[in-house]
Amino acid sequence: MQVDLEPGVIRKLDEVVVNRIAAGEIIQRPANALKELLENSLDAKSSHIQVHVKSGGLKLMQIQDNGTGIRREDLEIVCERFTTSKLAKFEDLSQIATFGFRGEALASISHVAHLTIQTKTAQERCGYKATYADGRLQGQAKPCAGNQGTIITIEDLFYNMPQRRQALKSPTDEFQKLSDVLAKYAVHNPQVGFTLRKQGEAQPSLKTSVASSREENIRIIYGAGISKELLHFSHQDEVYKFEVECLLTQVNYSAKRSQMLLFINQRLVESPALKCAVDAVYATYLPRGHHPFVYMSLRLPPQNLDVNVHPTKHEVHFLYQDEIVERLKEQVEAQLLGSNATRTFYKQLKLPGATELDETQSVDKTQRIYPKELIRTDSTEQKLDKFLAPIRKSDSGLSSSSLGTDISSQETPSETSASHEEESFRVVAARKAREVRLSSVLDMRQSVERQCNIQLRNILKNLVYVGCVDERRALFQHETRLYLCNTRAFSEELFYQRLVYEFQNCSEISVTPPLPLQELLMIALDSEAAGWTPEDGDKAELASSAAQILQQKAPIMKEYFGLRISEDGLIESLPSLLARHKPSATHLPVYLLRLATEVDWEQEAKCFETFCRETARFYAQLEWQEDATSGHQNWHTEHVLFPALKKYLLPPARLRQQIYELTNLPTLYKVFERC
Ligand code: ADP
Ligand code: MG
Repeated sequence: MQVDLEPGVIRKLDEVVVNRIAAGEIIQRPANALKELLENSLDAKSSHIQVHVKSGGLKLMQIQDNGTGIRREDLEIVCERFTTSKLAKFEDLSQIATFGFRGEALASISHVAHLTIQTKTAQERCGYKATYADGRLQGQAKPCAGNQGTIITIEDLFYNMPQRRQALKSPTDEFQKLSDVLAKYAVHNPQVGFTLRKQGEAQPSLKTSVASSREENIRIIYGAGISKELLHFSHQDEVYKFEVECLLTQVNYSAKRSQMLLFINQRLVESPALKCAVDAVYATYLPRGHHPFVYMSLRLPPQNLDVNVHPTKHEVHFLYQDEIVERLKEQVEAQLLGSNATRTFYKQLKLPGATELDETQSVDKTQRIYPKELIRTDSTEQKLDKFLAPIRKSDSGLSSSSLGTDISSQETPSETSASHEEESFRVVAARKAREVRLSSVLDMRQSVERQCNIQLRNILKNLVYVGCVDERRALFQHETRLYLCNTRAFSEELFYQRLVYEFQNCSEISVTPPLPLQELLMIALDSEAAGWTPEDGDKAELASSAAQILQQKAPIMKEYFGLRISEDGLIESLPSLLARHKPSATHLPVYLLRLATEVDWEQEAKCFETFCRETARFYAQLEWQEDATSGHQNWHTEHVLFPALKKYLLPPARLRQQIYELTNLPTLYKVFERC
């Protein structure tokens, strides 16, 4: 069989067909047309916009506004392609602050529907009515009576595109989409009154009033269930030059359907990257398959925004997209954690050569990843220990006490497994049997949450442990960076938070045999740490008055913190703050002395605060000796403290002073490549 190799003849398509194809790309369904027309009305500074719809906008869609109107002489060309009052030269594109700019909306609509414009400006004595087809004015614009503003009527959308018409069979679906677009604009523009009416229905489907508020419009449109759960925040970013205004539901609220109203420079747009980031933050808090309601309005310098990437303009590109999305994610997370403090940037003392902790490295996903950028993510990979002396990996209880006492844990099985739970204190605390009502404690919790630094939290969450340097310091890796951190400071904060959240629900570590308080206090006074001088008075007297204070306050310590002192002055139990962690018996005497002298027993809030701080300090002091037991401490740091820090700690910003970036892989590669 012979194949016909004759090339096809190239012909220029008929202009009407070309225009119709182009128009069909811009106006894909009634909701696209409505969006364009709403934007035109808003550009024309309207304060009232009424929309009237028949058959989901397929039969009729009429938008009436009270804006500036269109000049009579412009009616001739208003529906020609690329006619606009908003853009004169290409450079204006970078400064555009209105919705429209390409002059394509009305032209496109006129190619796929019957279009009528009735309009009146303030200067004109009467209005004019004009009908358009395929971009051209049909006949003359006719004078008519009317109020200032514009009425755009679109009839029989896609009458000349039967396939499209066929595809959009369901007026109910189309109406839903129209209503969705209008609702979003109404929330974003509370100063404007919007009405949406369905032909033949007495009541409007949607109505907001002029000079309303965003919250109020959300309540009217999306329901009180959402509006009463809203958190509000706004933020200005100096680095990436953006401003954001956001209303988002707290974690108590969730719905099966995700609602994200995103406006960038006043345009309703979609940003899958941003949506994904926001969803990821909520995923920590909401049940699977449940979503928040989020309204977000982002303002960027117009020159950083490329609005010209999509025919319907619903997708935009902007400079520093990844970084901005990351910042917004942090903001949202901070809000959900209960923080309303604006984010502060890392300013820390650094070792020479270290870079800023929060320096963002944007890595193009398509780029090749060099070995120097490869990140070790598995903590079972080789660690520092391998290069040091062999260690004893045991988890025997601490018995190195000079007092010959064993502080053994009597934890319930569920408590023992606590370190394996994927939960924060907050979740656990919320479920405890004894609900805490004391406002002082609730305030302490709130303050912990408010002060949590998101960046540090992120680092902690994803760190990979490297090894212990000494009693106080350990190395860990986060992404391509190696950090040195003050384990003592971090675990002290951890124990503090543990006490705050375990308040009234502390498990106990029993002290067997019980230890005499008075004697312990004497030991404390004998120790260097107490700093006793003869001017302080007789040691025995001091010890007994301290013992008296503690005995007096014993009921508080027992009730709230699980620290029991018997009536005959014996320490019977200490709070259990972390499974497998027992405080060091060596430091117990000084701790008790400090409880008597440093805790403010008079005022409730101060008392709890100082008690928790002192106790946390005690729990964070590891017993560290330069012998085999340091192996145990190494093990303890890696397997008990670090997992808990990773999972639980909500690090306050001040802990930034306790973490130093030593080096990073790219730098190391530079060094070794030279060798
Ligand atoms: P663009 O909005 O991109 O300029 P359009 O085709 O949407 O293009 O509109 C063309 C022009 O018609 C606008 O620039 C504006 O001057 C005028 N116009 C359209 N709708 C209205 C309206 N509701 N009120 C006043 N002027 C309008
Ligand atoms: Mg427009």
